[in-house]
Amino acid sequence: MPDNKTVELPGFLTVRELSELLEASPIDVIKELMKNGIIANINQQIDFDTAAIVAEEMGFTAHAFVPEEIEDEEELEALPEWRKVIGDESEDALLPRSPVVTMLGHVDHGKTSLLDAIRNADVQSGEAGGITQHMGAYQVDHDGQIVTFLDTPGHEAFTAMRSRGARATDIAVLVVAADDGVMPQTREALDHARAAKVPIVVALNKIDRNNANPELVKKQLDEVGLTPDEWGGSTMVIPVSAITQEGLDDLLEAIVLISEDTDIRANPDGQVFGTVIEGVINRSRGVLATLLVQNGTLKTGQVVVSGTSCGKIRAMFDYRGTAISEAPPSVPVQIMGLDTVPVAGEPFKVVVNEKTARAIVEERAIAAKQQVKRETFTLDEIFARFQAGEAQTLNLVIKADAQGSLEPIVNSLQALDYGGLKVDILRSDTGNITETDIMLASASDAIVLGFCVEPDPAAKRLAENNDITIRSYNIIYKLIEDVDKALRGMLEPEFEQVTIGKAQVRAVFHIRRAGKIAGCYVTEGEIRRNAKARVLRGDKVLTETAVSSLKRFEQDVPEVRTGFECGVGLEKWDNLKEDDIIEFFVLEQVS
Ligand code: GDP
Repeated sequence: MPDNKTVELPGFLTVRELSELLEASPIDVIKELMKNGIIANINQQIDFDTAAIVAEEMGFTAHAFVPEEIEDEEELEALPEWRKVIGDESEDALLPRSPVVTMLGHVDHGKTSLLDAIRNADVQSGEAGGITQHMGAYQVDHDGQIVTFLDTPGHEAFTAMRSRGARATDIAVLVVAADDGVMPQTREALDHARAAKVPIVVALNKIDRNNANPELVKKQLDEVGLTPDEWGGSTMVIPVSAITQEGLDDLLEAIVLISEDTDIRANPDGQVFGTVIEGVINRSRGVLATLLVQNGTLKTGQVVVSGTSCGKIRAMFDYRGTAISEAPPSVPVQIMGLDTVPVAGEPFKVVVNEKTARAIVEERAIAAKQQVKRETFTLDEIFARFQAGEAQTLNLVIKADAQGSLEPIVNSLQALDYGGLKVDILRSDTGNITETDIMLASASDAIVLGFCVEPDPAAKRLAENNDITIRSYNIIYKLIEDVDKALRGMLEPEFEQVTIGKAQVRAVFHIRRAGKIAGCYVTEGEIRRNAKARVLRGDKVLTETAVSSLKRFEQDVPEVRTGFECGVGLEKWDNLKEDDIIEFFVLEQVS
């Protein structure tokens, strides 16, 4: 069997292709799949995760294959959204799908009102034939052209989804109130939409207002690079009113026109995948998840995995609450059957069966734990990050009960500066700590500070799941002091080695694959698998390294105490001899 070989696997491949890559017979691959509960024939497509499990079991280390033409990070960013989403699909199989639209813009400019107005107009026109339910997305029919709206407006939600890898939006509608113009959050929203490289159409809302000044707003739009098409630019600026419903049809028309220009496509017969739009627990129906299908056709009875949630689809509903059995690309559906609430913005996919789903979830849970260890970002752990040169700023999300307390907090924190090390306040606002705050923190390695506010339950859950630190204070001085300490800590973290135990080498064995293993007797203290080791021969220190294995009677153990025998493997050190002393030590921060 090949030892330590690596193999690059695409997102999807047939059993035959996998067997060729693994230089194995297809029969062996099929047997391996069967061991994992998957009955597959030679031409059956399997996905990366499934293929990777088989590859690993056949002695390979599997990596995701990145096609050459999109290896370059910048090039990848520059690709249109649909291209990234449908990855491996062949050109011929791609068919146009309806565009997915998000509303962005300054607060109170009318995003929610427009989403409601568009939905209600469609219901009233009789086309939808019923009352829509809230599930995070809905569709409307504009002269036979379907448009899908994500109905959680705002760039915060948009970016939170993006930070989880979601590429759900095809077109952004930037809502600007005609009586208020381009405001700070309009610019911010614009930056977010531009960062996502989605085409933008401007909805010039509240056109019914007496003090509406569309010409002035167009000038402001021009200044931020959104030159209206009537001025020779390329931005469609559509005057609308969510209240009188004026211009809603024109807005839909503009969206359809842009979508025709943007090559929004997917393969309805391809592998099924997409993005989680929303997840909730319903008392009577259990976990309900809204999924946006982005490729393939989702069907009841299929097994879905998203993050560490999985399950067989027991029932599926469209945005009107009507039970459906199939959902092609761009269709949002609410599904029943997942075991836990999936996270919005997390990708989902369909896998062959529940056993595969559970194997994927297990692997992800393990990977997530390791990830958390690496990325946990508590105030105390900033020391380590800074020492490793990873952090130059302390990213903060600050929520306070009132503007009156927010301002002094922000001002004091911004004044903290230790030779270039400072805080970067990504967001400061009043109100409770919400899921959006946690997502922003999670996307930017930030910690969340609350002053006289608490996280709401969903935020708390999300923070726990993502290991985001939330610190709550009710004395401003304490908050500033803690951040100040963290920053000063970042400057000169000092560690000292503390010896925790010693072991004497009694015999040395050579174990295939593992290298040299020392049969040891612990003479002092306790030795630990996660400690560092120093090898002494006489009074000479030969090396300092990490412990690669610690076993008692073939069993991996976390620690061994004085008076016991054990097997010790050291990283990058094969020169062990009888009577060598291995000292085990940990690094402790000097306060
Ligand atoms: P959002 O924060 O962007 O979601 O804004 P909302 O949809 O909550 O709207 C903020 C306020 O503006 C509400 O009081 C709406 O009734 C009002 N509003 C929204 N659109 C219009 C409009 O087209 N005309 C007028 N007159 N008021 C509007």
